[in-house]
Amino acid sequence: MLLGSQLITARDGWGHRFVDFTAFRMRSRPLIGLEFLIDDTPIVYARVNHGRWIADCPFCTGSEMVWFEEPSAFFCFSCRNKAVDGHLLRVDIPKNYMKIEDILLIRHPVNRNWQGETLSALKSENTKVGVI
Ligand SMILES: [Zn+2]
Repeated sequence: MLLGSQLITARDGWGHRFVDFTAFRMRSRPLIGLEFLIDDTPIVYARVNHGRWIADCPFCTGSEMVWFEEPSAFFCFSCRNKAVDGHLLRVDIPKNYMKIEDILLIRHPVNRNWQGETLSALKSENTKVGVI
C-alpha cells in the first residue's frame, strides 16, 4: 500500500479520485468507452520528471502524471489506451519511492528527476553539485 507522495502526482494535477478524473476527461474528449479495468500488461514504469511522478505511454509518445493511490493506474490522454480497448494499465512504482523522494526533495524542483538510478547514484549526484 502506498502512503502518498511528497512529489506531484495526478491527484495534485486534478484533485479528483482517479475514476472521477478519467471520467471528467473522457466527457470532454469522448472517443472510446472507458472501462475501468486494469490490465497488468504492458507494465508502465513510473519515473520522476521535474518533481512530478509520470509514466510514458507504451503505445504512443504521450506521458501522464501517475495516480499514486490504489489502484495506481495509467491512462494516456493522447491515445486513450486504445490499444488495450481503453483499459487502464498498472503502474510499477518503486517500493523505495519515499527514499527516492527524500533525496530529490533537497534539489531545486527542475532538478528532481529519477529514471531508475540507484539511491547511491542519486546521492552522488547531489554531492557532486553541492546539494547535501
Ligand atoms: Zn498513449
